[in-house]
Amino acid sequence: MIHSIDHIGIAVSDLEKAKELYRLLFGVESFHEEVVESQGVSVASFELNGIRIELTAPTNETSPISGFIEKRGEGIHHIAYRTDSLEQDLERLDSAGLKLINHAPQPGAHNMMIAFVHPKSTGGVLMELCAEKK
Ligand code: ZN
Repeated sequence: MIHSIDHIGIAVSDLEKAKELYRLLFGVESFHEEVVESQGVSVASFELNGIRIELTAPTNETSPISGFIEKRGEGIHHIAYRTDSLEQDLERLDSAGLKLINHAPQPGAHNMMIAFVHPKSTGGVLMELCAEKK
């Protein structure tokens, strides 16, 4: 079951600049930082009352974040929803005819398994489903 918002992913081109901005905006003192090679991203995240904000920068030119920034500029990239049944959700959405970007869970940041649903199927918002690694 999909039960809560896990995080909001924000595409940034320069992680250090973005961290400076969020320090200024929210007084964030420390970020959790991580590179997710398989997704081509480097992430700096912090929490606001239980909701994580993930500043996500591309690590190379073929990163999906590079493509996104090229097309649409920096900004909200995706909303991630927490589920406790990732495989079943993917099956359910797939059989309902939604366009999945990942048909199987992939490793994500924060030791989570993740999968993306295409914005063409979700009203224009890239949707990530994430679940704790079993
Ligand atoms: Zn995410």
